[in-house]
Amino acid sequence: MNGNQVEELRGAVGQLMTRALEDLRTLVAIPSVADERLYPRAECERAAGWVVDAFAAEGLETRLETTPDGSQVVLGHRPGPDGAPTVLLYAHYDVQPPLDDAAWTSPPFELAERDGRLYGRGAADCKGNIVTHLTALRALRALDGDDYPVGIRLVVEGSEEQGTGGLDQWVEANPGALAADAMLVQDTGNAELGLPTLTVSLRGAANVVVHVEALAGEIHSGMFGGAAPDALAALAAMLASLRDERGDTTIDGVPDPVARGTWPGVEYDADQFRRDAGVLDGVELVGSGAVADRLWARPVVTILGIDAPSVVGSAAAIQPRASARLNLRVPPGADAVRLQDLLVAHLEAHAPWGVRVTVERDAAGQPFQARTSGHVFDTLSGALADAYGHETVTAGQGGSIPLCNVLAGQYPDAAIVLLGVEEPACLIHAPNESVAPSEIESLAVGEALFLARLGSR
Ligand SMILES: [Zn+2]
Repeated sequence: MNGNQVEELRGAVGQLMTRALEDLRTLVAIPSVADERLYPRAECERAAGWVVDAFAAEGLETRLETTPDGSQVVLGHRPGPDGAPTVLLYAHYDVQPPLDDAAWTSPPFELAERDGRLYGRGAADCKGNIVTHLTALRALRALDGDDYPVGIRLVVEGSEEQGTGGLDQWVEANPGALAADAMLVQDTGNAELGLPTLTVSLRGAANVVVHVEALAGEIHSGMFGGAAPDALAALAAMLASLRDERGDTTIDGVPDPVARGTWPGVEYDADQFRRDAGVLDGVELVGSGAVADRLWARPVVTILGIDAPSVVGSAAAIQPRASARLNLRVPPGADAVRLQDLLVAHLEAHAPWGVRVTVERDAAGQPFQARTSGHVFDTLSGALADAYGHETVTAGQGGSIPLCNVLAGQYPDAAIVLLGVEEPACLIHAPNESVAPSEIESLAVGEALFLARLGSR
């Protein structure tokens, strides 16, 4: 395949789109939420079985393995021509629960079209990516016969949204099982609809729970208020010390290059961000610097929860103790454990009135940084640009995907890149999740083109 490769693949994918969207409809109709308290395990097994059969039909040798958290992962393999590189294709078949059923305009597990988008839980995250992989492989076979230009490995996990790490542990226990030269972790999306984007960094995360104690027990605020130390007020002061007046996160001792990091890739338009985040009119964004700096290049602390009396039922009493759970996001280039240490020291140092402070630490997850040069990266960038008709940009992601660190640790020579159909308008994890069919189509063209070009060196 050469010359009109792009147009040929575009034509092949175009003819496969009806089938791709039928497959998506079938997959979305399976409520594969990997939480047995919410949905029977049989639903996940049904989704896994569908994926096994669908990729087997495209010539991969597929199988199911049970991972340490009890979920099933779909594995697939088809060796490439002698000397050809191997590409790992990743996605997950489990989905987030629908959350508030009443907030859905159409039933969450029935794919529904409105204004050119397809709505349904998992339509983008990550079932849209599963059908994109399938469509890319089908397009290659439609043009070139049964054999692929590269070796293909497939891994489609079944508990990604649970965060129970089944696949992560399985990968560590099975060294070499996923060996590949390139890894397409297809569980993110373009910076905006139609703008080809490779996600090249993920923030790490380190949570802490801080406890403050000041009194032996609750005391009357009328009799004692004014002189008695208030644990809730102390906690509020400590939390307030973690931001300056602009809203930038301030942790004592964080070196300036980390605290004021800048993002070298695509910019995130501030108005677009306001819409994506649902910021209310008149309310400002927090922090200084470009939006992308704040999201992808700097440490940020978010207050996740506070233990304090509820308003309803609260009494005229001074609180003897209070707690807060904090989420620390760690940008690439910084060490998550070191930043967590600094956060703990900051909280202790900013506790007023000698109140007693104890801090519990969750395990720290390190940030991830993909290699943004080399043959794989350049070939993928070029293939996406040709498929979308637009230069490929690089973005970061604020959240973490621990699997990327596990893969990078196990396969240090592999080029790992994140991409996918989950652009911001998809509202993944929220009610009314949707996908743009054009993203599935363009990405399938780009993916097929990448596989073809990588194999033709
Ligand atoms: Zn996902």
